[in-house]
Amino acid sequence: MADETAKAQVAKPGGDTIFGKITRKEIPVNFIYEDDQCVAFPDVAPQAPTHILVVPKKPIMQLSQAEDGDAALLGHLMIVAKKCAEKVGLSKGYRIVVNDGADGGQSVYHIHLHVLGGRTMGWPPG
Ligand code: AMP
Repeated sequence: MADETAKAQVAKPGGDTIFGKITRKEIPVNFIYEDDQCVAFPDVAPQAPTHILVVPKKPIMQLSQAEDGDAALLGHLMIVAKKCAEKVGLSKGYRIVVNDGADGGQSVYHIHLHVLGGRTMGWPPG
């Protein structure tokens, strides 16, 4: 079983996460993008030649816990993902992924978008 898949099987929702510490700048990370609502930075264990995470500063645990009032923020994350893809030169396309819960393979319970690119993606995903 891949390392990240194994982590997702044991990860539990709730509490502060590594992404909370990163968005609050308690852990130094080189941001590809930052605004008042979110940050974007490289994934530490890239699954493609380019692998960026877009993370809101608001610590929503996972997509299934998001509320109607989060719609504008979630839409904003998509636009930021698009801008990041442009910024790093993913001109041939890319994939946006949101993992939710154990079956979705989520390992960090602070909602985030994966931006994956730089190679042709397979379908269906594993
Ligand atoms: P998910 O499995 O969808 O919850 O994705 C979590 C992602 O966070 C994984 O792809 C990890 O490689 C990545 N990750 C975990 N810790 C860090 C970190 N400190 N910096 C960057 N990426 C991280």
